[in-house]
Amino acid sequence: MISALLIKEGIEPRVFDMVYLKQKRSREDIKAQTWECKFCGKEMTPRMGGIRAWYFAHKREASECPYEAESEKEGPQHRALKRAAAEAMRRHFGTQVASLEYEVRFPHIKRIADAVITLNDATRVAIEAQISPLTLEQLRQRTDSYLRDEIEVVWVFLEKDGGLRQGGLWDKCREWLLDEGHLVLTARATTVETNIPLQNLPE
Ligand SMILES: [Zn+2]
Repeated sequence: MISALLIKEGIEPRVFDMVYLKQKRSREDIKAQTWECKFCGKEMTPRMGGIRAWYFAHKREASECPYEAESEKEGPQHRALKRAAAEAMRRHFGTQVASLEYEVRFPHIKRIADAVITLNDATRVAIEAQISPLTLEQLRQRTDSYLRDEIEVVWVFLEKDGGLRQGGLWDKCREWLLDEGHLVLTARATTVETNIPLQNLPE
């Protein structure tokens, strides 16, 4: 997960996200704190590698978190997609944005949105970054459950391996969403590769 609850004696527990933490705090500082899962309250470990984006993981396995199933399966690709989408939406709404929170749970629909942007006029926009295939029926149900709660939803799809192939599963979903007037984001998967000749690397 990108966010976790900071547990500190004498202070109200507070949610932080790694996008913010990476900019503002040192690795040592983040490591020295106690972090908990916002949903199940179990301890989380900050993962702060040199290459992959920083995130929080349950100390044991994610499968010990009973809320895991309420969101798209966690993985580097999903985390990257939700973060890129949330940041893109933050830029899209600009000064209208009151807050951006990663991983927000809506208990009555048993769903953890990847991110929620709240605008100054109290409009809430849920961001759903989808990697694994979803049928049109599943997508409609999920979209409708958000709308019943007066939450707008923006779907984010990955363009890869025929993900948005004409006539494919995503394509039907996208068509329906656009017909209904929703905003759809598509992202192209990129892999970071080096084109630096290896002999030029510092020794
Ligand atoms: Zn948990």
